[in-house]
Parts: sequence; structure tokens; C-alpha cells
Amino acid sequence: MPVSTHCPYCALQCGMTVSREAEVEAGPGGLCRKGWTSAALLRSPERLTTPLVRDRKGGPLREATWDEALSRTTAAIRRAQQSGPDKVAVFGGGGLTNEKAYALGKFARVALKTPLIDYNGRFCMSSAAAAANRAFGMDRGLPFPLADLGEADCVLLVGSNPAETMPPFLQHLRRMQAAGGSVVVVDPRRTPTAEVAQLHLAPQPGSDLALALGMLFVAVDEGLVDKDYLAERTTGFEEANAVAASWWPARVERVTGVSEPDLRRAVRMLADAPRAMVLTARGAEQHAHGVATATAWLNLALALGLPGTPGSGWGTLTGQGNGQGGREHGQKADQLPGYRSISDPAARAHVASVWGVDEAELPGPGISAYELLDSLGTGPTAMLLFASNPVVSAPNARNVARKLQSLDFLAVSDLVLSETAALADVVLPTTQWAEESGTTTNLEGRVLLRRKAIDPPVGVRSDLEILHELASRLGCAAAFPTDPVDVFAELGAASAGGVADYAGITHARLAAGEQLHWPCPSTDHLGTPRLFLDRFATPDGRARFVAVDQPEDAEPLTEAYPLRLTTGRVAMQYQSGAQTRRIAELPGDAYVELHEDLAARLGVAEGDRVKVSTVRGEAWLAARVTDAIRADTVFVPFHWPGKKRANSLTGDWLDPISRMPAFKACAARIDRLPA
Ligand code: SF4
Repeated sequence: MPVSTHCPYCALQCGMTVSREAEVEAGPGGLCRKGWTSAALLRSPERLTTPLVRDRKGGPLREATWDEALSRTTAAIRRAQQSGPDKVAVFGGGGLTNEKAYALGKFARVALKTPLIDYNGRFCMSSAAAAANRAFGMDRGLPFPLADLGEADCVLLVGSNPAETMPPFLQHLRRMQAAGGSVVVVDPRRTPTAEVAQLHLAPQPGSDLALALGMLFVAVDEGLVDKDYLAERTTGFEEANAVAASWWPARVERVTGVSEPDLRRAVRMLADAPRAMVLTARGAEQHAHGVATATAWLNLALALGLPGTPGSGWGTLTGQGNGQGGREHGQKADQLPGYRSISDPAARAHVASVWGVDEAELPGPGISAYELLDSLGTGPTAMLLFASNPVVSAPNARNVARKLQSLDFLAVSDLVLSETAALADVVLPTTQWAEESGTTTNLEGRVLLRRKAIDPPVGVRSDLEILHELASRLGCAAAFPTDPVDVFAELGAASAGGVADYAGITHARLAAGEQLHWPCPSTDHLGTPRLFLDRFATPDGRARFVAVDQPEDAEPLTEAYPLRLTTGRVAMQYQSGAQTRRIAELPGDAYVELHEDLAARLGVAEGDRVKVSTVRGEAWLAARVTDAIRADTVFVPFHWPGKKRANSLTGDWLDPISRMPAFKACAARIDRLPA
């Protein structure tokens, strides 16, 4: 009997069934090609089924028993801890189930007593999360069910390309378009999503904030602001508007490249729609000023009276499979379960009581993901890394790879030998999605049960088992259960009373088919599909405008580096590609996309080998020549390693609030390579 479960990849978490023979069937919402082919990795010859250890730095990895691998890991942790608990770091991933993310945060704070834990979701969601927390007092990617999109009259997508990154999402846009609704896309590329939009605005990468300010200017200029909503439900409009007042359309056009008629048309489309939504994604958020940019779009949505109004709203499209749940339960540097602050004495006392430890023993906040990676070797000398591949996915990746290699000890838990696992001293082979049960929280804040469908191969263990065993070998008295049902029950207790309150959600309720969006504080509570209908989660119940302005470029263009490089994803690959590059049915290779006018100027033809360079490094790529990108901008997908690695090029400037790196805009050049 096939088992109902969910796709292992993106935050849409499409439903599917998996048979004992590992055959996938789509659920009612359909699957994209990544979902259809996801079972291929379950029995891949590249699957790790035996722990690997390295006897000396630079030597080869060899097979080992679990006992040897865990003994080496425990000994290395103890060695590093002799110089202090902050000599050991933990790095997690947004693909981990809620149970694993929770257990990892607890393991770091209780078993290792280190403040140094963060995760790759910092690279993905942190700017929009910070903007939402500041404006609404709460961060849930979509504060309304995804299906509400299909009922909207206008949807503005900023820096989002769901036609490639999560194709089944488009059914909601098609539904609203079939009923007469319209889609506006903001993207420097004419992506497949922009192709289906009624209006496409193509600003220069990094100038989205100015575009949002210009749209607020127009909304005020044309009398489209919802004054009753501003008066009843918000604070701070005057300050935000005072900044927008200096972004008149001609100035916006000079900075962004978006014409005044298009700017005004976009604002009218949104303002005239009875139900309208503004949705941002990584294109708007992965900047050195990502929080300010997300805030500017949020300010526009507030000015038009959208957030907390039935059928309308502002949201952000989460990327990784458990990008939402993964940022709620404690693998973030500053956070305890339930989206609680680790600096809040009441939160510390509550969680410490659930964990059975003294509150005073809990460490304080650590540092953000890139700062953590950048500190390796000089700061922490040992690291445990779970379900992440920063050698490919981190910004300024050459620096990150060097820092990982400078560690005295690196242990990596993964299902394949990723580029990061290949640098490890110990590699721990783990179970994957269809071989274990656990929960994820999708982009609308709905908690989903991923059921176990097949037995894992002999020789692999779940991350929960690994953490249990390590904690025990380290002499930690606190419990680390291995059954996901027990871990989730503990997570519920730890989250009780927090912002992301899961106390009323159980595996049994999810298995019975209940659709539960958090917060869900008790087992007779039906969850909260729509947030903010009566009040926002701020102390006064009002949403907060925050005045933001377009900053200087983090890296201005120069004669040597005259092009704006932006990076992103393609339809056939997922994140660092560690999984999808190993699936034969997902074809494709790295490339650089450039405009035909730029190609002609450089003497580059379709398929030519070119070198893309920034001051940090270079990548050798095939040219893809198109008219679907700005002539001053080039695009490189980031799924490939080695000489094709986009993140050899990207910069490591961090947003001052979210510490999000700037993946979406840096200065680059292209040179044709000899044939
Ligand atoms: Fe999986 Fe995302 Fe594709 Fe759905 S859209 S099948 S969740 S990768």
C-alpha cells in the first residue's frame, strides 16, 4: 500500500505517495520534475551506507564502523572543548525536519554547551523574517493559506520565479488569472514566471528598494493609499512616506531602469484590485540591505491596506523544504524553540524546564551562519555539520572552503558525499525523507507529516539516533529521544506559549488528516490559517511602518568589473545540487545568461566558453545568449561546484540586521575563453 508523504525538496512540500518499491505518485496538487524523480536517490549507487573516516589531514577517507566514527567524533569534541565550549560549532540546514532542527538546537546548547549554532536558512529567509517580525511582530512566510492566492485579483511577485523553483505553485496564479486577475512580476530577467505575467518590471539587481519607494510615492501621489486602514491598523506611515517622497518616478527610472508609465501602471493594478497580495522572495531579500528592501515592499502593502485584510496580504515565499519550521525551533544562533529569543529570561526559564537543565547553563546567542563559517579555525576548531553543503551554497565559497579545511575536526552528516562532506574527517551516513517520519512546516505555516514509506538501507542511521548516541557518549544527562513522535511532543511542550506555538499539534492529529497551521496552542485548537485579521502581533496590535531608504551599492560597478551579476536557481536543480545533480532524469549544466547585445559586444556566441570573474574568484561557464535579461546584468545558477561554482563569485557583505549575505548583486566581468 503506497504511503502518503511529501516531496523532500522545496517549501511547497507537495503531497505524494511512495510505494514499497519506491515508486512516486503525485498528490492532488501535482509535482514538478524534481518531485517525480526524487525517489531515484533512495537507491542511488552514490548513497552513503557506511561511515567514513580520515586518518590524517589530506589523506583519503576510508570506511569505518559506527563505533569508530562516533568515538572519533566524541574524542575530537572533547579535545576542542579543553579550550572552551565555544571551540565546537554546529551548522544545520533548512531541509531538516522540525524534530531534527529542534534536537540539533538542544544538542548544541545542552550536550555541547556551545552558543555557536546557526544554519543555512540564514542564507535564505532571514531578511524577510526580520522585516516581518519588525512590522507584524511575527514571521510566518505566508500569513494566509496558499489557496487564497487563487482568489486574489492582483498578485505582485518581487524577485520570485516559482515557474521554475516550484512549478505547481503556478496553478494558483492561473486560477486567479482565469477569473480576470493579474500578475505583476519584478525581476531583472524575463523568467518563465514573468512570461505569464500581465506586467513585468525589470529593475537593475539591487535597486528593488528604490522601486518599492517609487511605488509608494505613486500610491500617495495618485490618492491610492488606504487612509482608514492606516489610521486604524498601523503606525509610522508619516516617517516612511517622508523617505518615499524623494523617490519621484523620474528618479526611480534613473536608478532602476523601470519607466514611469510601468511604475504607475503597477501601482494602479495593485490598488484597484479588491484583493491584492505582495509577495517577496530571494531576489528582493538576498542583499546587503535585504531587510530594508523587504520592509519597503511591506510598507507599500501596508499603505494599500493589504496585510491582515481578508483575501489580501503580504508574504514571502520560503525556499527550502522546511525553511519555515527550520527557523522556528532553535537551530538559529539567537533562538530557542517556539521562535523564542535566547536572550529572553522567561523564554530561557521555560525551555530550560522542559529540557531539565539549569537556565544559567544555557549559552547566550551565537553568531550568524556566514560569520560562523568565516570564524572557523581561529574561533571554533571543531564543527558538526548536518544537511548542508556550504562549499557550494555559501557566499564567497572559496573562503568558506578554506575555513572548513582549517578546522582540526569536521564531521558531516549527509546521505551522499557532498562537496562539504568530502572535506570532513568523519562522514556519517543518514536516512532520508521516505525512510523516516517527521514533520515539516510549509511556506504557509502548515505543519505536515512526512511518513516513512520504505526501510532505509542497512548501515545508515537517522540524525536523531546520531544525536542521541553522541549526547550519551559525551555524558550528557538530558534525554535525546530517537522516535520522531516523542521528539515532536517535546518540541510542542518547549514551544508552548511561544510565537510559533505547536503545543496542540501531534503526529496523530496530522496522520488523521487535520490541516494545522501554527499557532495551535492546544489539542482542541484548530490552528490558525489566517493571521492578523483582528490585530497584528505587536504590543499595540498595529502593524509598524519602518522608514527605509535605498543605500549605496555594496559593490559599485567599475571599469574592470562593469556588469551586475545575479545568481539563482533553475527548474531541474535544488539548492547546492548535492541531491539533484545525482539524478540522471534531471539534466542540465551550469551556464551564464547574458543579453544578446552584451554578447555581441564581447564577441560571445551561444555555447561559447567564457570566464565570469569578480574580485573574489572566477567561474568557467557556457554562454547562454538571450534577450530575456537586462543588457547590464548577467545571471549564473548556483547549483554547481568546482570551476562552475557561482558562489566563487558572490560577495560576503551581510545585512546589518538579518546577517543575510548578498547573493543577488555584485560587480563582475565576462571574458571569452579561447576555443
Ligand atoms: Fe517538490 Fe517543490 Fe517540485 Fe513540489 S514544487 S514537487 S515540493 S520540488
